[in-house]
Amino acid sequence: MYPRVIISRKKFRNNVKKLLDLCHQNQVSMMAVTKVFCADQELVKILIEEEVDFLADSRIENIKTYPNTDIPKVLLRIPSHGEVEDVVKYTDISLNSELSTITLLDQAASQNSVIHSIILMIDLGDLREGIFDKNELFHTIEHVLEMDNIVLKGIGTNLTCYGGVIPTSENLSTLVELKQEIENMYNVSLDLISGGNSSSIEIMLNGNMPSEINNLRLGESLVLGRETAYGDYIDGTYDNVFVLETDIIELKTKPSVPIGQIGMNAFGKVPTFEDKGDMRRAIIAVGKQDVDYKELIPFDTIKPLGSSSDHIILDVSESYGVLEVGDFVLFRLTYSSILSLMTSKYIVKYYED
Ligand SMILES: *Cc1c(COP(=O)(O)O)cnc(C)c1O
Repeated sequence: MYPRVIISRKKFRNNVKKLLDLCHQNQVSMMAVTKVFCADQELVKILIEEEVDFLADSRIENIKTYPNTDIPKVLLRIPSHGEVEDVVKYTDISLNSELSTITLLDQAASQNSVIHSIILMIDLGDLREGIFDKNELFHTIEHVLEMDNIVLKGIGTNLTCYGGVIPTSENLSTLVELKQEIENMYNVSLDLISGGNSSSIEIMLNGNMPSEINNLRLGESLVLGRETAYGDYIDGTYDNVFVLETDIIELKTKPSVPIGQIGMNAFGKVPTFEDKGDMRRAIIAVGKQDVDYKELIPFDTIKPLGSSSDHIILDVSESYGVLEVGDFVLFRLTYSSILSLMTSKYIVKYYED
């Protein structure tokens, strides 16, 4: 069945092994982040077989589908008040930044007779999640330390997600200074100092990451084999764990500019076109509902022109070969196209070894 995402188990396992090795060589534990592939069961199985240190996802719905395992489960997105019951039941650790939510987690943990661990998130300037104000941080910690069913497992930060701020020895040192301050002030010890996501790999590898940082949360690097501060490939990894394979459902020579008066397209926008004369145009059975066509990278010298809900139109005039209806067109994928294709129920997931 097509269109399908071809998922290479072997390449994924290779990337997981490689990144786990790199982390462990640097005394850093790895949270394997499963959200980009919607916690796909086959891939989660590989993470468990390779004994990653933690399994992590931003959505509790995904974590609920993890198979039974001793590997600790981590909720990455700050929980909502309505989620606390599920969070204490289905995860071991959650990342948090709101005292009111942690208070509810404590109550839910008590009702369920469990102990729940939290990592307090600190915003070092990327301006997504995390406590920004130092007084608020200490105020939150004072309350957390009084809770019977919550353990303060550590602190963490997230960078290069919203603001594009790159991890440096300066901003990561701030995290380490806060760790030391907290430990001295409250006479506690923080197990986990979580220094970010795939954008912290470069600084870990070049030796400039403070040694107190002992955890990273990795998603994109596992699937695309690259760090995300500079977009550099990581030696010994694959960038094509996921490939999209589609088949051509229509192939005709047509003009490059629509004929008639141009009004709005299916999405309420007035389109514009460049006249390149007649062109060979192919249609594939994937559309906006599945993926943004701009995030597909053709292997062949063809050019995605545009899309509607369930069609993408390709200019195949310059294709290497002679294409016919029924022929396959393959695409490399980006983080956002893997995310949306894996989320689409209309796209077949096909595993190869
Ligand atoms: C998604 C996410 C990650 C993983 O980020 P990558 O760039 O895919 O490595 C890490 N931490 C948090 C809080 C996340 O939401």
